[in-house]
Amino acid sequence: MQNNENKLMKIQYEYDNQEYIIINKCPHCNLDIHPTVENRYNFENNTYKISTLSLSCPSCKRDYFIINHFDNVGAPNERFIMSIPKYSFNENALVKNTSQKFQQLYMQSINSELLGHLDLAFFGYVKSLEILIKEIAIFQHPESEDVILFSNLNTCLEQFHSTNMHLFSKKLLEILKNDYLYYYKTPDFHTSSELVKDCINYFLLYLEMLLKTYSLNNQAKTEKPLKS
Ligand SMILES: [Zn+2]
Repeated sequence: MQNNENKLMKIQYEYDNQEYIIINKCPHCNLDIHPTVENRYNFENNTYKISTLSLSCPSCKRDYFIINHFDNVGAPNERFIMSIPKYSFNENALVKNTSQKFQQLYMQSINSELLGHLDLAFFGYVKSLEILIKEIAIFQHPESEDVILFSNLNTCLEQFHSTNMHLFSKKLLEILKNDYLYYYKTPDFHTSSELVKDCINYFLLYLEMLLKTYSLNNQAKTEKPLKS
């Protein structure tokens, strides 16, 4: 379930003896890349020191900016200000299977995290997961749409995703059951957030598999059973 290679992360990137913080994926095409620097622009006044890298994606060949600041920063990760354009998904991403509603909230959560708004990001991820598992449940049980829409995340998981739930760690289930309280009482907030993100990744893959096999299954139902 944990696949760090798939995840969007802030990473260190050295250029001209200066360490920058960039994202590990291209904001245009969402692929894991090692970008090349096209140019660098520095801006400075008495208060702020800003450096902008113009990077090029070796895959889609498109350019983007990563902006870092170097004044009074604490942890290196806080150097990252933003990317232009903001990170988004490409056509091929698993996310394309989902609704506009999910995509908007999920993207906002990701960009909140990149900007350091970790509280908003965490709750955004939990709500994104809720939308995703409800969409999948409705896809599989269209007759129960009303029940699914009005259930909470945990009830929906227990009633409509019981076959998936055995894959979840106890900790993840605790986070999902008590997202609000759990968040505020745990010092290990980062792990909680990562588990929720892993869970979203899992259901995105699960949805992909469902959609791939759906037409095959439906075909099978309308055909006469094969002779044994
Ligand atoms: Zn690209």
